[in-house]
Amino acid sequence: MRTQVGIIGAGPAGLLLSRLLHLQGIDSVVLENRSREYVEARIRAGILEQHTVDTLTDAGLGDRLHREGLEHHGVYLQYPGTRHELDFPALCDRTVWVYGQTEVTKDLIAAQLDGGPPLLFEVSDVQVEDVDGESPRIRFTDADGAAQVLECDVVAGTDGFHGVSRPVVQQAGGRVWERTYPYAWLGILADAAPATDELIYAWHPEGFGLYSMRSPTVSRLYLQVDPSEKIEDWSDDRIWDALDTRFAHEGWSVNRGPVTEKSILPMRSFVSAPMRRGRLFLAGDAAHIVPPTGAKGLNLAVADVTLLATALVRLLQEKETDLVDSYSDRALARVWRCTHFSWWMTSMLHTSGDDFDAELQLSQLRRVCSSEAAARELAENYTGLPIDG
Ligand SMILES: Cc1cc2nc3c(=O)[nH]c(=O)nc-3n(C[C@H](O)[C@H](O)[C@H](O)COP(=O)(O)OP(=O)(O)OC[C@H]3O[C@@H](n4cnc5c(N)ncnc54)[C@H](O)[C@@H]3O)c2cc1C
Repeated sequence: MRTQVGIIGAGPAGLLLSRLLHLQGIDSVVLENRSREYVEARIRAGILEQHTVDTLTDAGLGDRLHREGLEHHGVYLQYPGTRHELDFPALCDRTVWVYGQTEVTKDLIAAQLDGGPPLLFEVSDVQVEDVDGESPRIRFTDADGAAQVLECDVVAGTDGFHGVSRPVVQQAGGRVWERTYPYAWLGILADAAPATDELIYAWHPEGFGLYSMRSPTVSRLYLQVDPSEKIEDWSDDRIWDALDTRFAHEGWSVNRGPVTEKSILPMRSFVSAPMRRGRLFLAGDAAHIVPPTGAKGLNLAVADVTLLATALVRLLQEKETDLVDSYSDRALARVWRCTHFSWWMTSMLHTSGDDFDAELQLSQLRRVCSSEAAARELAENYTGLPIDG
């Protein structure tokens, strides 16, 4: 087998990269070690920045997004006694969209299987070789158990945090930075109409809460919990009671409904540099992880592949190396901006049990809710800064 770009991993990063390259006349093959059903059912991110919506729309993937997605004009910041709306269009002339990662993934897979480049599910034993030369290759076992070799011009490692690509880059030298947080998110999906028109980020002495939604009939809610908590210890009633406490606001209440999914998500910041070794390029969670408080993970993956697709088109069609040579530095500049923003949102909103920390957090929240400059800084970062600036 031979292709121009061998792509490892069919998450949003790998699928979108394949789509962007296809539209520019570059062929690729996407290799995914899970089944289509598994990939399409993974409940993860749900907020799309303006640039993500624009990129998906320009790539011909905007029909269902614009029909079923919910455009949001702001968020509420809450702390006891206050619920304050940040108006994004007024602050920075941008909006965000609520459209689940599951739906983005389904749209990408449908487009890929409808005349797009090959997408092979349930492959195993994926290994990348010869990335320092001009002709890297990927060895893998296909779904029927046959050993395969995919000869490539370039390999894209979009195989997430636990993939095989990042170790290959790091073997040649590099650096990682990591921060684990002393809290986790307990997330539920519930068949309940959202009781709010915008997301609510709530600081509470008992811990952070996030009220979000997936559709007019489905709510997605999160509670800060200790990372050692077991989901079995959280009955639906216990979760709803904790949500009632954390979102308590006069004259308003959380809407309850059947819980259809619940899980506990650890929180971590992680950056691996460089994002390239020879002809192997990393993008998305393969190179970096952010805690979900800033809603950046999926959007960063989209930003990476937007830069990478342009760089690979220039390399493969015009034989110019300038954009691939600068890819890692340009991508990492945005990664660090988003890493800081995600850390800042996390640090401002998650309680540690320490009274001094709590007063600093409340001071910061009051500042964001009273100063236009502070509010604009949050709004610009939340809705997404320019891809390459
Ligand atoms: C459990 C979880 C919950 C999350 N929740 C939120 C949230 O609430 N809000 C938010 O903003 N962000 C959230 N995120 C972050 C966001 O979902 C990710 O940033 C986003 O999925 C990144 O996309 P990606 O394509 O880079 O990686 P992924 O989506 O991880 O895709 C990588 C793909 O590579 C495949 N793969 C891995 N190894 C191999 C291999 N060896 N061979 C072939 N294929 C391989 C994987 O199966 C996967 O399909 C969450 C992430 C996780 C893991």
